[in-house]
Amino acid sequence: MTDKIRKSDEQWRASLTPEQYHVTREKGTERAFTGEYEANKDAGTYRCVCCGNTLFESDTKYASGSGWPSFYKPAADGAIEEHEDSTFGMRRVEVVCAACDAHLGHVFPDGPKPTGLRYCINSASLTFEKK
Ligand SMILES: [Zn+2]
Repeated sequence: MTDKIRKSDEQWRASLTPEQYHVTREKGTERAFTGEYEANKDAGTYRCVCCGNTLFESDTKYASGSGWPSFYKPAADGAIEEHEDSTFGMRRVEVVCAACDAHLGHVFPDGPKPTGLRYCINSASLTFEKK
């Protein structure tokens, strides 16, 4: 990834729903168990709602019980970026889209094999393309 996708706040607002905007551009979090894809078991590809970048594949999605779509691995190396996040007094690792910096969620070290990682992602930051 060299050139990031840059848009003004007005442009993002115009192309996203209020919840999508809040989650991806203001680092919001949807309420647990309310997201569109939390229980989605269909085979397909999850893309960034802001820019269409391929983020996760359904075969790495698993039922974590957390209330948010959970994956153990991104679709490709370089699809996402991870940033240290110390808001709310917690040390967490934020996950963003590598192409447009959309906030996606966080990654935690309590996932299943083979990675041991849990990418805890807001449905509002994703679109789903069924196979
Ligand atoms: Zn993106």
